Amino acid sequence: MNRLLSSLSKPNGKSFFCSYCLHRCSSQAILDDHLSYCRTHKPQIGEMPTAIYLSFEKFHFQLLVPYVIYADFESIITPNTQQVNAISLHKSCNYCYVVIGPDG
Ligand SMILES: [Zn+2]
Repeated sequence: MNRLLSSLSKPNGKSFFCSYCLHRCSSQAILDDHLSYCRTHKPQIGEMPTAIYLSFEKFHFQLLVPYVIYADFESIITPNTQQVNAISLHKSCNYCYVVIGPDG
C-alpha cells in the first residue's frame, strides 16, 4: 500500500496509509487511532447506472444566472526552446467573447 501511494508521501518522512479509505497519516499511532473509527464504516460500493443513456432531467434545480459569457482564445503554437517540460508554447494572438445578459 505504501509503495502504491508513495507519490503522496512527504519527501522527508514516512507516511502511513489507511487500507480502508487511503487516508494518509504521519505516524503509526495516528493511523491506529484513525483505524479505530474507520473500521466501523462499511466499504464504499460504487453503483453503475443501469440506463444506457443518461440525461439531465431535473431542470427545476437549475439556477438562473443574470449573465453568461462565452469566450474563445486563439493561439499560435511554436516549438519550445525556453521551458524544460513543455513541448510547445501557445502564444495568444486573438480572443473573442460575448456577454449575454437577461435581455438576450
Ligand atoms: Zn480510513
